[in-house]
Amino acid sequence: MITIDQDRLVKQFMDFVQIDSPSFEEAPFVLALGKELKALGLAVENDRTSQNGAGNLFSVLPGTDRGLPPILLCMHTDTVEPGRGIKPQIEDGQIRSAGTTILGADNKSAVAATLEAIRWLQASRPAHGDLEILFTWGEERGHQGARVFDVSRLHARIGFVPDGGGPLGTIITQAPYYDSVRATFLGKAAHAGLTPEKGISALVMASKAITRMNLGRIDEETTANLGKISGGSGRNTIPERIEVEGEARSLDFRKLERQVKQMRMAMEEAAREWGGQVQVEIKREYDGFHIGDDDPSVRIAQRASRAVGLIPIIASTNGGSDGNDLNAKGIRTVVLGMGGRDYHSTQETISVAELVKLSEWIAALVLESGRNR
Ligand SMILES: [Zn+2]
Repeated sequence: MITIDQDRLVKQFMDFVQIDSPSFEEAPFVLALGKELKALGLAVENDRTSQNGAGNLFSVLPGTDRGLPPILLCMHTDTVEPGRGIKPQIEDGQIRSAGTTILGADNKSAVAATLEAIRWLQASRPAHGDLEILFTWGEERGHQGARVFDVSRLHARIGFVPDGGGPLGTIITQAPYYDSVRATFLGKAAHAGLTPEKGISALVMASKAITRMNLGRIDEETTANLGKISGGSGRNTIPERIEVEGEARSLDFRKLERQVKQMRMAMEEAAREWGGQVQVEIKREYDGFHIGDDDPSVRIAQRASRAVGLIPIIASTNGGSDGNDLNAKGIRTVVLGMGGRDYHSTQETISVAELVKLSEWIAALVLESGRNR
């Protein structure tokens, strides 16, 4: 029976979200978290790969039975905006912000829940292998910390990232490949009133290209978006330079390749027809993954769910996380639904009951990882 100290967990969570940690400004929170881990008697290393003393924090709860296999738990320390001066409030068992900021349960619910799970594991000492714990920076800005973390430090070959959407019990085994798309359309500037025939409008070129692109939901596994357009110098000048930024993602990398090819061709054709040029840069920002239902990581997560009264649900997502990078680096990693609602918005909420259950689930993962695989 896993027993979690609800009051201590809630207090820790409330304390954590009140330490501002927008992406790339995680240092104060990383410092506070390092102190908490040391207070639990754990060794902590900061790889200082970010700025102002922030970095990935790596810690190990030594196994009580070193013959049992190690596992990795990974979560992130940064939050999205508006995430400064968060004032958490509890009402009817629901925790939310004062309404002008996010709450920061993404991902500090998992951080607080992990510390409380460690306290229970230390107090009751069930049989388990080493628990390797990684707290990354810059996840919300393209998994920057996970991307640069040196996985040769890890002994675990399977990992869990409690940073997914969906109810507790959700086990995400599939996530997309992701390409960024950047294009610069180049035309020719001219006076819009006196000599428009001398100009070539990069803006018209970009518009023609955009109307020919397949965007939005392409199929059930694939999406594409242009999120930003900028350029031009004023309303009386034919615009010479327009920049467009977008993305495409798919669970199937062949579909992704087809999609970005279509985007590239639409842009190159429009530029050619309009007598200008376009420079297109398409970059694979991260790889997708698909883990089979029989994989030990999935089976452990399923057993741990049932052990604490959760219904395991195997799911896929079209969102990325540190799990993409860890899988790409050879650590078989599933992403777990962390409960809560309305992440990345000022309506973000998690209940006290979910926080406690998340902590139980994390403790149960450690227990189940030591049992028969
Ligand atoms: Zn997150």
